[in-house]
Amino acid sequence: MPENETTTTAEPGLENLLHESRTFAPSAEFAAQANAQPGIYDEAKADRLAFWAKQATELVSWHKPFTEVLDWSNAPVARWFGDGQLNAAYNAVDRHVEAGHGDRVAIHFEGEPGDTRTVTYADLQREVSRAANALNALGVVKGDRVVIYLPMIVEAVVAMLACARIGAAHSVVFGGFSADALRSRIADAEAKVVITADGGYRRGSASALKPAVDEALAPKDGAEPTTVEHVLVVKRTGQDTAWTEHRDVWWHDALEAADVQHTPVWVDAEHPLFILYTSGTTGKPKGILHTTGGYLTQAAYTHKNVFDLKPESDVYWCTADIGWVTGHSYVTYGPLVNGATQVIYEGTPDSPHQGRWWEIVEKYKVSLFYTAPTAIRACMKWGEEIPNKFDLSSLRVLGSVGESINPEAWMWYRRVIGADKAPIVDTWWQTETGAMMISPLPGVTATKPGSAQVPLPGIVADVVDDEAKPVPNGGGGYLVLSEPWPSMLRGIWGDLERFKDTYWSRFQGIYFAGDGAKKDEDGNIWLLGRVDDVMNVSGHRLSTTEIESALVSNPLVAEAAVVGAADEMTGQAVVAFVILRGEHAEKASTDEGSKEIETTLRNHVAKEIGPIAKPRKILVVPELPKTRSGKIMRRLLRDVAENRTVGDATTLADSSVMNLISAGLAKPAGAED
Ligand code: ATP
Ligand code: MG
Repeated sequence: MPENETTTTAEPGLENLLHESRTFAPSAEFAAQANAQPGIYDEAKADRLAFWAKQATELVSWHKPFTEVLDWSNAPVARWFGDGQLNAAYNAVDRHVEAGHGDRVAIHFEGEPGDTRTVTYADLQREVSRAANALNALGVVKGDRVVIYLPMIVEAVVAMLACARIGAAHSVVFGGFSADALRSRIADAEAKVVITADGGYRRGSASALKPAVDEALAPKDGAEPTTVEHVLVVKRTGQDTAWTEHRDVWWHDALEAADVQHTPVWVDAEHPLFILYTSGTTGKPKGILHTTGGYLTQAAYTHKNVFDLKPESDVYWCTADIGWVTGHSYVTYGPLVNGATQVIYEGTPDSPHQGRWWEIVEKYKVSLFYTAPTAIRACMKWGEEIPNKFDLSSLRVLGSVGESINPEAWMWYRRVIGADKAPIVDTWWQTETGAMMISPLPGVTATKPGSAQVPLPGIVADVVDDEAKPVPNGGGGYLVLSEPWPSMLRGIWGDLERFKDTYWSRFQGIYFAGDGAKKDEDGNIWLLGRVDDVMNVSGHRLSTTEIESALVSNPLVAEAAVVGAADEMTGQAVVAFVILRGEHAEKASTDEGSKEIETTLRNHVAKEIGPIAKPRKILVVPELPKTRSGKIMRRLLRDVAENRTVGDATTLADSSVMNLISAGLAKPAGAED
């Protein structure tokens, strides 16, 4: 069922991005079967609150039904479905068993070493119930906080659901974070229990996890002792593990001793479900608070409609770690509340070989796939002959999240992974929004490579100017959310003022997301990068995303990051950091070769966007600094470009990257004019 490509131009490239000339309309066949039908936009527009009430009633089970939909009188802290009561774990697990789907596979687990485990909804119910009883036995009760610091294994999902089942809020900390990062998150949330593992498998070997917990909990000069009473330890690798008597408890011992029956604790819709610290792309992490009823409603609604989920037949796979919000909404809550069958994979895409992901798609016949642009660009760099070796014909919807997806990567994803027919859903959202906000609906929305398209039904978003006035089509400005939405954050943990300041002070009464965007002639939204990253060159505002996409559209370039560096003449000058595609990298090692590459790329940007966007400097680098969720950390590159000491790099995936980049810059960087 190929999608109909309505317009094609002879030459692909950013030109097309700028002129929005490529549009892929849904195929009639897909549209006919799609969960979402075109009328959904009008329905939501006609009565937004009634629309959300309907989603909440149809997709979520309530112990006590709600009668009130939204209370915004205490803005910016919203109450959604405020007088209803429910339990998130009951919604994700028990009700499917009660409905006769206990034998349905909830999770196909694939460990990095190749070990597998199949977990049905009935298995999940038993394990979550035992874990809930085990947490109770350790003294955790409704209203407490539990920190989860685990690899991407089944127990991570079980642990989250066990917390939800007893009404304790979880705070998942990504397993790659340091002891310091863990300690500050434990302290901020005043957690009673930490759930961890002896270790996990990554890049072909077992790496320890528990030592970081021991370090985080160790007495520290000048610091208050932590509030943690117990550490629950999953045995994953079997490696030697230091043990603190009375504090540490093996997960398997605790679960074995626990009863398999557990009655979920019914909580108010606004009861805290979790705290999650943002990934730290821009600065000090914020403890984003999400509550239960509205969050579950929007996670389930978006998962069902944006992926067109058919729970009886689809196999869904989201590659995100549960340490990120994507792993919360689109591994644990959205899919399980919808009764989906999903794949969870522990390791990296290139272990033990660069085709591992595609091998997994083939093995489980994955039909709905969700990943990040950084991963797609890595696969492009490795070459399409790798995915071509596998049968990917089961794939029918492809999702992207985390950064703007460069049109070049979008087209590659569509052609190589999606066989030119699977619709691509580029989903814009944030830790703060809890669930997807702007995205095409497959089967309904015609898509354009590089655009997240339109707000989902029920969501009101716009692009505004400095005075909060909506810009006309064709204009650019700030992306804002003008009406409250069910899965919105309810605050920053313990800091109401910071919540108001950070999100609600730039424009009176509307949420400012921090991202720049433009509306094209059809009113479709294109994300342009964070406004902090927008460059001002001789009075022209230039977008990082657009220049990066122009660079990536050149066959020499695998990845690009662009920053503005202070410049006496022009205010700011564009500086680009590029990773070359395999066969070209060598050429850059000679002065002459690198000069030639730089000239080519500078001219390329000038042609694609205009001379004003031409980078002042192009630096060929072996790697780019990225957060552990795979986003480029431009502020560090700005430090390099402006010859400053590099700022806080603790949330970098690989801290040696900055040394590599600085070392590379010791040699002259070439073309400047
Ligand atoms: P921090 O807020 O701590 O700096 P972060 O913003 O990277 O970290 P997340 O909440 O994980 O943390 O990411 C949300 C941001 O990711 C968005 O504000 C946007 O900049 C970017 N983003 C996410 N999805 C998309 C998308 N589809 N297109 C463009 N940008 C996206
Ligand atoms: Mg953010």
